[in-house]
Amino acid sequence: MSTPLSHAYIISSADTQLREEKSLELSMGLLCEKGGSSPCMKCSQCKNALGGTNPDLITISRKTDDKGRQRRELLVDQIREMSSDSWVRPQAADKKVYIISDADTMNQAAQNAALKLLEEPAAYAVFILLVSSAAALLPTVRSRCVEINLRGEEKREENPLAREYIALAEKGDRAGLCSFCSHCEELSSQELSELLISIQIRLCDIIAFREKSSLNRASAFRLSSLCRLSQEYLRMNVGAKHILGLICVQTIETP
Ligand SMILES: [Zn+2]
Repeated sequence: MSTPLSHAYIISSADTQLREEKSLELSMGLLCEKGGSSPCMKCSQCKNALGGTNPDLITISRKTDDKGRQRRELLVDQIREMSSDSWVRPQAADKKVYIISDADTMNQAAQNAALKLLEEPAAYAVFILLVSSAAALLPTVRSRCVEINLRGEEKREENPLAREYIALAEKGDRAGLCSFCSHCEELSSQELSELLISIQIRLCDIIAFREKSSLNRASAFRLSSLCRLSQEYLRMNVGAKHILGLICVQTIETP
């Protein structure tokens, strides 16, 4: 991904999941200790971002009202809060990244507060605005941001093996998992690594309640660490067969 460096981005797509994935990838690239144009997926910044535990990656989303329904707008107070938080230096990374979900639901007041922030941000702060359509944002806000339009990528296939793995884990299907893992032995280590990343992205969605799943959060966290451990083994040149054996045995908890 060769996105120009900026302190503010707009990611637009009608596909909520796609824009969230893209923002995670972009944030990891910004926070990554290796500092390349794409995330290394190995350093603690990348891993924590994937696991949803990076203190320097903050997501702002619409609040719920007292009946538990999501509000229609992002509130100006939330933008002000983010603004003052952005003056607190990052905890561990060189940057502090804010993802603003549904930024197109900011009303005029919220957008004006955002504009003020984008005009004079803290040097280390980066803001990523996620929208269905950038047209809903004030031209002055847009002019401060690098726009990434994902139209055309929306039909991108997600890794079908990742979907299959999650489905097997949800069902607790040991036999199915065994044959899945032996089938995966044919993958190259690059392909296996990509599969593990796709699984982690899906787990992230489950952890963040962006995706419905019968896996509870604790299981999703456990599987996410299993993926991380597997990635580590893969880097240490442990054979795919052994790693898949580990995944086969440890995915489904014994009651
Ligand atoms: Zn990294």
